[in-house]
This record gives sequence, C-alpha cells and structure tokens, in this order.
Amino acid sequence: MNTAPNLTVIGEERPHHALGTPAIEVLSAEKIYSNGTRALLPVNLTINQGEFVTLLGPSGCGKSTLLKMIAGLVEPSDGKLMLWRKDSREKAQVPLSFVFQEATLMPWSNVHNNVRLPLDIAGVPRAEANTRVSEALELVGLGKFAKVLPRELSGGMQMRVSIARGLVTRPKLLLMDEPFGALDEITRNRLDSDLLRLWREQGLTVVFVTHSIHEAVFLSQRVIMMAARPGRVVEDIAINEPFPRDEDFRVSPTFARYARQLQDSLLQASQSGMES
Ligand code: ADP
Repeated sequence: MNTAPNLTVIGEERPHHALGTPAIEVLSAEKIYSNGTRALLPVNLTINQGEFVTLLGPSGCGKSTLLKMIAGLVEPSDGKLMLWRKDSREKAQVPLSFVFQEATLMPWSNVHNNVRLPLDIAGVPRAEANTRVSEALELVGLGKFAKVLPRELSGGMQMRVSIARGLVTRPKLLLMDEPFGALDEITRNRLDSDLLRLWREQGLTVVFVTHSIHEAVFLSQRVIMMAARPGRVVEDIAINEPFPRDEDFRVSPTFARYARQLQDSLLQASQSGMES
C-alpha cells in the first residue's frame, strides 16, 4: 500500500535547500571610498540560505563593491552586514569563497596544486587536502587534468580550475564577480549550466555579479537590479521558473519575457540615474 503523504506540487520544483533562513542581511550598508567616491547609497537586502541571487547593472553601479562588502573585503562606511545571523565584523568564519573574473592561477603550478592552494594556506594535512582536490576537480569535470599546467588549458577550463579552487574549501557561500565575463558565449552558457548543477548538488548560497541580462535570467532565482551615479539597488525581481533549467529555457518565450522585463528595468534605472 502506498503510505506516502498526499503532496500537491504546483508549478516549480522548489530547491530543497531554500527554506527562507537568512544567509546575508545587508542593513543600510553604504560605501564612500577614501577618495570621496560614493560607490553605494545605503543598501537593504536579505539573501536566504540556498538562494541563487544575481547582482545586475551597468559598470560602476557598485556590484563589486557590494559583493566585496559581503565577503568582508571592503568595510561599509555606514550600516552593517550579517552573515548567517552574525555581525560580519565578528569575522564569524562563515566558509565562503570568492571567484573573480580572472582565473588568477599560478602559471608554474599544475592544476592540482593550484586548487590545493587554499587548503595549504589553511594548513589542511596533505593527504586530506589531496583527496579534497580530487573531489573538487571531479565536480567541475577536470578529473583527468590534475597534472596539466594552466597554459595548456582553454579559458573556460581555467575558469573551471578557479571554481574548483573555490569549492575545495567546501564553502556555504560562493561569491562570484563576473566569473564568465571574459569567455565566449558557448563556453559561458556551458559553465552557467554547470554552475547551476553545482549550486543544487552542493546546497550553496550563490551571489553572482554580471552585466549580462541573459545570464541573470538563466541563473537566478532573484535578480537585484542596480543603477549607477550613484550606485544603488533599484529593484528585486524574482525569476519564478523551475530548475533544472536547460538550453530550451534559453529560447523560450518565458525567457524572452524576463529578459525584456530586466531590459526595461535597466533602462528605467539608468535614465533615473542621469536625471538625478
Ligand atoms: P561595478 O562592479 O558595478 O562596476 P564598482 O563597485 O566596481 O562597480 O564601483 C562603483 C564605483 O566605485 C565606481 O565609480 C568605481 O570607480 C568606484 N570604486 C570602486 N573601487 C574603488 C576604490 N577602491 N577606490 C575608489 N573608488 C572605487
């Protein structure tokens, strides 16, 4: 006899890890750099554990600044941030990784040793570190490339190494600053799909910076739209579409509708910026 509870699932399959518990709370955090540049007006934003959120906007709207504030790499001039409900100034040791646009690999060191670097810095014993590096390389599909030097790899593969280096510390939070911006479109699309798989499999919280509307629609559960002059958050747009998202999604009318919505929002935001 089937004793399963009577579940009704309407519409999307919810990611199992999206339970609505805050991972990141940005509380009136703003940034004026020491040279007087106002990079961000006060931002209020909550990102839940397990969410995939994109920061989208034109150059100079403060996307990187906000991401670096979340990472603790930039101090807010006013306001504060909480990570996993603890004041980020307490350096609460939430395991997070930051992936930059450049893969920034050590050219003299093979793929395995490049990925092992954060574990070496953290003093993880050699045998355990090696096991974790192998796991991380498998996750990004580079299991067979451990002994290869970075220059022997394509740009997309180098970025996979960078992502493996981000995952090897088993972070809860992955912060990505235009990681695929320098790649050709086909490679970027493939890495977008791989990233979504990793996000779901690993139960990560991801904050992803891009200025590509299409990338934002494909990846995100939520898009935080930002505008420049001065940098600020202008809109929080849900992309209420199920996962997994595949290549058919990219060419669907729904996708086009979201892209149009973001395009309009971006245009409106940039116009209001010029008037102010
Ligand atoms: P985005 O990532 O959206 O391009 P940024 O956060 O890099 O935006 O920059 C926002 C604004 O802050 C820009 O005007 C930029 O020139 C300025 N800015 C960024 N970093 C610094 C810094 N270290 N010192 C002074 N100004 C900065």
